[in-house]
Amino acid sequence: MPKTHDCLIVGAGPAGLVAATYLARFHRDVVVVDAGNSRAQWIPTSHNCPGFPLGIGGESLLQRLRAQAAQYGVEPVQGKVESLRRDGEGVFLASDGDGRVWRARCVVLATGVVDMMPVVEGGQPVLERAVESGVLRLCAVCDGYEASDECIGVLAPPQEALSHGLFLRGFSRKVDAISAGPGETDADTRRAADAAGVPLLPVPARLECDTDACTVTFDDGSTRRYDTLYPVLGSEAQSQLARELGADVDEDGALRTDAHQQTSVDGLYAIGDVVSALDQIAVAVGHAAIAATAIHNRLPRRLRM
Ligand SMILES: Cc1cc2nc3c(=O)[nH]c(=O)nc-3n(C[C@H](O)[C@H](O)[C@H](O)COP(=O)(O)OP(=O)(O)OC[C@H]3O[C@@H](n4cnc5c(N)ncnc54)[C@H](O)[C@@H]3O)c2cc1C
Repeated sequence: MPKTHDCLIVGAGPAGLVAATYLARFHRDVVVVDAGNSRAQWIPTSHNCPGFPLGIGGESLLQRLRAQAAQYGVEPVQGKVESLRRDGEGVFLASDGDGRVWRARCVVLATGVVDMMPVVEGGQPVLERAVESGVLRLCAVCDGYEASDECIGVLAPPQEALSHGLFLRGFSRKVDAISAGPGETDADTRRAADAAGVPLLPVPARLECDTDACTVTFDDGSTRRYDTLYPVLGSEAQSQLARELGADVDEDGALRTDAHQQTSVDGLYAIGDVVSALDQIAVAVGHAAIAATAIHNRLPRRLRM
């Protein structure tokens, strides 16, 4: 039988790595399993991450957080947890596709979300370069400031395109809402968008991006060029493992938790983007601190000899 850890953390993005550091500093035995696709890897430079006045790249931030956890002996194991269940003693059993099994008294899911990306001419390499150069942005709360006074497009289902367009209108007076597909809009949002000068444009025929701008071409052949384009196409919360154990989720599949980050399943905690909350690094690390401390306090006390 594999060793029983105090805690298994699934995911080593900002949330999982900070939880690991906290638990290791409480002298808890923690194992972290990570599939290696943190959303933070996409961040060219974050300017709202606390403590980095000149900004920090997502990969640099992850390196620092990994180094911090490693100082207390935690090195994430590469792998994808495919199943999570409880044994007869109420201990969690997690396994990956290669037959590896981890046993733990508590589990923290820090598995994040996966963004739905737009179809860009040239495919994945073009898309990645556009994100890297900041012409395609995925999070207006994160970097709307960097797009201030630029010509901004929001590509989303009509209702979301208008409401995100209104949000971004606080950063620039040149904002277009672009429909990503058919859909209804409510009259209040439409009125507010009209008053703010945010037009709702039709579904584009083509989207091209380089490192300076994104250009949208419509069916009638007309084009619009944007310094910054925000696709708001939704994301998929990586909550399957918890849902299989019966955990409550919101209408988007994100996990609901209590004030200690515990899901509706006893001993199963969730932190970061996978939780029904604002998807931000500052929130993820706050969740991590709360969950790690709650887990430490619920586990049997260990006296230092
Ligand atoms: C382009 C972009 C720019 C952003 N800019 C900012 C910004 O400036 N400021 C800010 O606060 N936020 C920003 N964000 C959001 C930020 O990246 C996320 O809020 C943050 O990464 C969430 O951390 P997390 O640990 O919850 O999830 P993630 O960082 O996504 O990490 C989740 C980890 O879990 C792993 N995982 C998932 N399922 C499994 C499984 N079954 N088994 C093992 N591992 C698994 C994944 O592979 C991944 O490594 C940005 C996001 C994007 C995409």
